[in-house]
Amino acid sequence: MFLISYEYKGKKGWGVANPDKRVIYPANDIFGENTPNSLLGFIQDESTIKLDTYPERGLNMDQVKLLAPVSNPTRNIFCVGKNYLEHIIEIAKQDNTAQKPLEHPAFFSKATNTVIGTFDVIPSHEGITEQLDYEAELAVIIGKRGVNIPMEDAMDYVFGYTVLNDVTARDLQSNHLQWLKGKSLDGFCPMGPWIVTKDEISEPVELNISSTVNGEIRQESNTRHMIFDIPTLISILSQGMTLEPGDILATGTPSGVGKGFVPPKYLKKGDVVRVEVEKVGYIENIVD
Ligand code: MG
Repeated sequence: MFLISYEYKGKKGWGVANPDKRVIYPANDIFGENTPNSLLGFIQDESTIKLDTYPERGLNMDQVKLLAPVSNPTRNIFCVGKNYLEHIIEIAKQDNTAQKPLEHPAFFSKATNTVIGTFDVIPSHEGITEQLDYEAELAVIIGKRGVNIPMEDAMDYVFGYTVLNDVTARDLQSNHLQWLKGKSLDGFCPMGPWIVTKDEISEPVELNISSTVNGEIRQESNTRHMIFDIPTLISILSQGMTLEPGDILATGTPSGVGKGFVPPKYLKKGDVVRVEVEKVGYIENIVD
């Protein structure tokens, strides 16, 4: 199922999308009066979705503004750095650091002010950063509360998946030592176009992932190349740290980021960045 958040005639809503027909069925029309008023609320309720028949009529997807599926996360977005070997190597070459996988996942987070929708504008933050970069990522949406989750049970805690661009100011990322600032400027987390529920994607999760800038392919890989796979990430992150339904976990980016090129290919005003994950969808954002 494809669960989507949108704005229509100035009102925010959420519902079930039929991508082939490009139609959205508003949640109220499906689930009735007790429908949570946001997709996040629905996930937090740990509700079970039952949808045997679609309503007769829905909204045309092209007539709504697509919001990030979780546009107001309650907590920072959890991320993992250096989770694809080729990306470790491209960055290590530039920074003169070790070209080998880490022993433990490099967890960090992005602040909640970063979240923008499927086709929203990424602010260029001119005068604040000179090294605006993109990172194509598959994000996991957590579906139920858990702590100390064993690896073999980890997938039970997954609600679904979405596409995420972990936009980064490389200069701020290194200047401030910790990554929070360089990863958390306004608009630095485009997400969308929807959450694809877990049942739609076979396991292990092996999906092509790519990014383009103005149509030029920059990143092209598959999530099977993650150093720490999804169950491992969830299990390790949850050790002594309770995960909540609605938490977002970005699983890292493959090689081909702007910083990896010689000379680097950082984003500039007017660039259009597209991030795509097989069977999930794509997001496309212009820099301005
Ligand atoms: Mg990243």
